[in-house]
Amino acid sequence: MDEFSDDPVQLLAIARRAAVQAATLQHLTAALSSTLSEEQVGAVVLREALPAFGATAGDVVLLDDDDRTFRVLCWMGYPEHLVRSWMRYPVDTGTPGGEVVRGAAPVFLDSFSEWEQHYPRVAPIIGQVHLAAYAGLPLVFGGLLRGVVSFNFPEDRSFPPEERAMLLAFAAQCAQALERARLFSAEQRARLDAESAMRAKADFLAVMSHELRTPLTSILGYQELLADGISGPVTELQRQHLSRIEASALHLLGLIDELLTFSRLEAGRESVKLEFASIAAILDSAAALVAPLAAAKSLAVVVDPVPSLGDRDLSTTTDCMKLQQVLVNLLSNAIKFTEHGQVTMSARAAGDDLMIDVRDTGIGIAPEHLDRIFQPFSQVEQHSTRRAGGTGLGLSVSRQLLTLLGGSLGVESTLGQGSVFRVRLPLTR
Ligand code: ADP
Repeated sequence: MDEFSDDPVQLLAIARRAAVQAATLQHLTAALSSTLSEEQVGAVVLREALPAFGATAGDVVLLDDDDRTFRVLCWMGYPEHLVRSWMRYPVDTGTPGGEVVRGAAPVFLDSFSEWEQHYPRVAPIIGQVHLAAYAGLPLVFGGLLRGVVSFNFPEDRSFPPEERAMLLAFAAQCAQALERARLFSAEQRARLDAESAMRAKADFLAVMSHELRTPLTSILGYQELLADGISGPVTELQRQHLSRIEASALHLLGLIDELLTFSRLEAGRESVKLEFASIAAILDSAAALVAPLAAAKSLAVVVDPVPSLGDRDLSTTTDCMKLQQVLVNLLSNAIKFTEHGQVTMSARAAGDDLMIDVRDTGIGIAPEHLDRIFQPFSQVEQHSTRRAGGTGLGLSVSRQLLTLLGGSLGVESTLGQGSVFRVRLPLTR
């Protein structure tokens, strides 16, 4: 205290000023904390900081990537015509801002005569707009000096140490806010890029799937014409070959449809068509669709009798085609990964839920792989060692479809013994 004064009146004035300055800094810090862009930081500097420090003009300039040019982020209090020619200017134009960068330290000018003495090139402009004292503070963020915040005062004045400290503290806050804004906009740009890449991928998948489907439909059409003998009599061997063409084309169609559904789900374009339907009917038609697959491996697909709900058949309101698609997926997997035993499908009501189990006696899945199999393009066996075919999309698509229908898909499995895939859907009575 002694170094200031013993006079109580003076001490009170100093204490008051310090309190006001602390409150001002606190207020500015709060105002800066909610800024998200460089421009918003600039606006706080102009709107709040300049008047708080008693300045009537000022600016924030940032260094270009080459570190040799200033770009004006914002300014206040200079005539428009003057600023227009100063929106970008070289750091070595002979301004105090340039010296802040060169010396990596603040510059304080107490009077107009100091301008004339040290910055003769720009002093006439400052004189023209009747400005005098000046404070230029470095903006250091991301470990580098990246700009200068300048305050111009209408009169000559000195900057006592505590005011210098406060201006520097404010510049540090300002730099922090600018760094936050820079990271925020980089993060936003990265997110937009990722979103547009996702959209491009989804569009590509949708277009490709559609393009692949069209010739395949015509292959199946001509196969049918040939098999029906429209183009002439068909021998038994030709019939066998035609039925292999049909099986392969239908398999390919299934894969393309899976890709198409996946791309629609990814793009959020999958729609739901609800209808009231008997569960037994959906189970039976799904089992019928995979019957040829099961027959080829001499496996039985058993649909357990569906228990009735009270005095009527078990039914619910759902998108029947999507539920059927899910069940066909689960049944195809069960058949694909089972060599002996059987595949069983059963349904029951459990409280407000409908549960459908697809159970197999196949190879099973190790506990550490149970989560991974629901990821798109994920398969337990590596591509090089894979025996079974597939895109690795079936379970991911099935889970997403069930989520869309308000349900879920779970799994229980024992390696070497088999798996149960459990569909849960809301039961509407
Ligand atoms: P795909 O069958 O086309 O490979 P899916 O998403 O349907 O793709 O399944 C992902 C992986 O989960 C399969 O590759 C397989 O490793 C494993 N899987 C799925 N169903 C079963 C099952 N019933 N038994 C054993 N493994 C299974």
